[in-house]
Amino acid sequence: MLSNLATRDVETVLHPYTNLSTHRQIGPLVLERGEGVHVYDTEGRPYIEGMSGLWCTALGYSNAELVEAARAQMARLPFTHLFSGRSHDPGIELAETLKELMPVPTSKIFFTSSGSEANDTQVKLTWYYNNALGRRNKKKIIARQKGYHGVTVASASMTGLAANHADWDLPLPGFLHVSAAHHYRGAEPGESEEAYSARLAAELEETILREGPDTVAAFIAEPVMGAGGAIVPPRGYFSAIQAVLAKYEVRFIADEVICGFGRLGTWFGSEALGARPDSISFAKALTSAYMPLGGVSIDEPLYEALVGQSEKIGTFGHGTTYSGHPVAAAVALKAIEIYRRDRIIEGAAEKAPQFQRRLSALAGHDLVGEAGGIGLIGGLEIVADKATKRQYDPKTGVAARCVAFAQGEGLIVRALAGDRVAVCPPLIIAPDEIDALFDRLGRALDRTRDWIRAEGLE
Ligand code: PMP
Repeated sequence: MLSNLATRDVETVLHPYTNLSTHRQIGPLVLERGEGVHVYDTEGRPYIEGMSGLWCTALGYSNAELVEAARAQMARLPFTHLFSGRSHDPGIELAETLKELMPVPTSKIFFTSSGSEANDTQVKLTWYYNNALGRRNKKKIIARQKGYHGVTVASASMTGLAANHADWDLPLPGFLHVSAAHHYRGAEPGESEEAYSARLAAELEETILREGPDTVAAFIAEPVMGAGGAIVPPRGYFSAIQAVLAKYEVRFIADEVICGFGRLGTWFGSEALGARPDSISFAKALTSAYMPLGGVSIDEPLYEALVGQSEKIGTFGHGTTYSGHPVAAAVALKAIEIYRRDRIIEGAAEKAPQFQRRLSALAGHDLVGEAGGIGLIGGLEIVADKATKRQYDPKTGVAARCVAFAQGEGLIVRALAGDRVAVCPPLIIAPDEIDALFDRLGRALDRTRDWIRAEGLE
């Protein structure tokens, strides 16, 4: 029996990223409030939010300073915009702060409201830039299988997941995908991480040469793949890839929507993994998700090319109503102040060894083929046979079952394609809460194993 609220949900809400058929039968989990790393459902049951919502609530759920920053800006000037040369002080101050923080050469910041819009902006700027330089054929974008870059038409074209392409008439022409960088699944038996990285770089080079270097404009990658499986690249990956990109003047865009603002124990994931992108897309933890805000870094040559275009054709024709929304900007400024003042990112780095030790220990479980991560993010893969890495029939939905058991244990984690389970708690999580998280995840895996046996699915 669904509760009244659940029934109303099923009758009225079309849910993003949901199995709509199952949802109609089982209804929603309705959350009501949050405190620290916990969220509470309408029955008052607490859950450790082991996914920070959608990889985003880095400062947890009851940060009064973020609330006050939003309230004060709403009371003072709830909205103005950045179109037609208009501006506002939280937007200016935030752009200055981000310029200081960016680990890539940055002349300007362009604001969006989401990660998808940030990556869409990257594509449009890449095209516009190459037109400005007279490189009219240099337009193709290379992304990776299992990469996640959003759902707008261009960002979904870069995303490398079947659910975002099949029957959506995507990807658009001109968007290509090379292999994911996942050593556990992609490497040959006995292949070292470095050798695998070199092979992936060779694949990228072959792709560029096959397409024609004068037609390939940009390559996009997340430092750690999020929605594609919470996957850390093999050692040497980015240095190998970057050498190829530099050789053919292919712009490197790092999608730091998950990794930005501390997730790997550094301000940006690129810093932790030796990536040196030309531009960064960011969102999520910028405001700890208390307000929607994202953006991209713009380097000096790109900016000068945009100004050159304005001299020729006038207005720079891109931007949305909420680009740099002042309330979101005020919240982001406060979040960054807190990250700095309370050493949140250093704290994440200090807690990472405990987090990764507890995560890796789950690789000893009967069901787990791989478990690992970096900083305060990680994933595990459920397999039917650890020796052969054979997976369960996807129809079994074994990872989804594990996530449901975890929910019963008071833990929210996320099932991803390929029977992977992701963990990405708020950066403020305390050491005893890390232990509680993995105790609960371990029990959920035990219950999944018992269920598999009871159902005879082995
Ligand atoms: N890039 C990455 C790496 C993401 O994880 C996400 C969202 N999960 C996006 C882009 C898209 O962001 P949004 O959902 O805010 O559009």
